[in-house]
Amino acid sequence: MSKPRGAETTTAIGIDLGTTYSCVAAWFHEHNRVEIIPNEQGNKITPSCVAWDGTRLLVGESAKNQITRNPNNTLFDVKRLMGNRFRDIRVQEDIKSWPFKVTEGNERKPMIVFEHDSHENRSYSPEEISSMILKNLKEAAEAYLGKKVTDAVITVPAYFSDKQRQATKDAGALAGLNVMRLISEPTSAAIAYGLDKSADLYCPKDKNVFVFDMGGGTFDVSLLNISKAGTISVKAVGGDTHLGGEDFDREMVKYCAQEFKDKVNKDVSENARAMMRLKVACEKAKRDLSSTTETSIEVDSLFEGTDFSKKMSRARFEKLNGRFFEKCIEHVENCLRDANIHKNDVDDVVIVGGSTRIPKVQQMLIEFFDGKRLCKSINADEAVAYGAAVLAEKLSGSRNVVVQNLVLEDVTPLSLGIWASVGGMSLDVQDMSVVIPRNTPIPVTRDHMYVTNHDNQTCMKIKVYQGESKKTENNIFLDKFTLDGIPPSPAGKQAIKVCFSIDANGILNVSAQVVSTGKKRSKAIASAAVNRLIHLMKKKLS
Ligand code: ADP
Ligand code: MG
Repeated sequence: MSKPRGAETTTAIGIDLGTTYSCVAAWFHEHNRVEIIPNEQGNKITPSCVAWDGTRLLVGESAKNQITRNPNNTLFDVKRLMGNRFRDIRVQEDIKSWPFKVTEGNERKPMIVFEHDSHENRSYSPEEISSMILKNLKEAAEAYLGKKVTDAVITVPAYFSDKQRQATKDAGALAGLNVMRLISEPTSAAIAYGLDKSADLYCPKDKNVFVFDMGGGTFDVSLLNISKAGTISVKAVGGDTHLGGEDFDREMVKYCAQEFKDKVNKDVSENARAMMRLKVACEKAKRDLSSTTETSIEVDSLFEGTDFSKKMSRARFEKLNGRFFEKCIEHVENCLRDANIHKNDVDDVVIVGGSTRIPKVQQMLIEFFDGKRLCKSINADEAVAYGAAVLAEKLSGSRNVVVQNLVLEDVTPLSLGIWASVGGMSLDVQDMSVVIPRNTPIPVTRDHMYVTNHDNQTCMKIKVYQGESKKTENNIFLDKFTLDGIPPSPAGKQAIKVCFSIDANGILNVSAQVVSTGKKRSKAIASAAVNRLIHLMKKKLS
């Protein structure tokens, strides 16, 4: 692989940390454009895989290549665990389908265990595993750029919660990266799209752009407005952090395992190696079905010496996953409703992510937008990293005018609010009092006044939640803290100001203040102790 000679390159990179594939890019000053950085094998996307082969830690292609031989110690889909709790229903569902082991750690965190290791401390948090992938990409960039890389912009699904964002930031810090900014994946793709259009003329008019991003693990939609001057403002986001190609593969595997059982009366589901071989075959068949209408799934000696062979039609594949596809269109509708924009007012529909190659997905989108042509001019696999590299360049003080002029206005994907032990807002035990509604432009600071509930109440418990349900129990619990030192007074006489502030990364800080005395408590919500994590990881790897 030849390195661009004498290129004056920035050390800030853009990273698309995907569920299935990751990608890294940087702005090359010499060429005045972004380049996607190839990995050691020369490929521009790297599997988000980490494995332990008994002696070595493998990351990326080398990890993925040995997955069928070493299924219990090859980790994938780890992004689905980021910032989530072990007991979340969806986490539990994922764990059932994975060949590797996940246990419950401190603070209800899921911990991933490398199985055939006798050391009991060889279990890793999702942040630690993700940091290994980030480090691998950082090193690929350093090798290609010929200099050290310290700063990065990392992308996250638009629909990631505060906790998931915080976990991503922590993973970056563990990889030795200064995370300059987290940016939503569809927003990043919109930058790539905006710059692509600017090649001839810098956006002749304001445009409403709908980005549909469907990858392996997550599904994101976003409605953005791109102005003539280069301002990209997000109007609304939506999606599902648990919907993508992995789910389609899983449905196919379930179907094939049932077929095998019906035919030869053997249950493959308990055999991790057989299931992994079946998954690899199903994923390949799924890809084939994007360009052909029929294929076959073949696995020699799948289980106890019996071969598996099954024809699979595109129609069958679509039927198996029909409910997922329908869900996607519901998210599209909701996002447009939130943005208050009619589908006829959408100028361009941009598709990114590997799963948008599925003909049924494209067809449903075209039908929804009444026959509109989908915009495929940007690379579905690279656009997200591309946009992140542009932002990284901007944040490092670019000399390029187009990059300089770029302004981003993002929104918060989920409503943020509290439950508090105070009155005045008629808060029932379970009621969520929203402080910042979803799709509010960020950065933002909002406050809300509450009053004491009881006579002589001296403290107030504040629980912070994120989500759309009126009942806090159905939302994501983020954190809690207590404000004390409230002067004893009759109920309703002391006011407490609760202030929420979201920074440009979409990360929340909450404070509460007794108005009469000025006493204040602040909390950076869900911020994990990164230094402690770094220390732990060093210990484990040594
Ligand atoms: P992520 O961002 O979640 O890592 P990607 O955007 O890289 O995901 O997309 C990966 C997903 O796209 C995988 O599930 C893969 O099977 C799927 N995929 C890639 N190419 C095709 C194709 N031609 N047809 C259908 N699915 C595809
Ligand atoms: Mg992606």
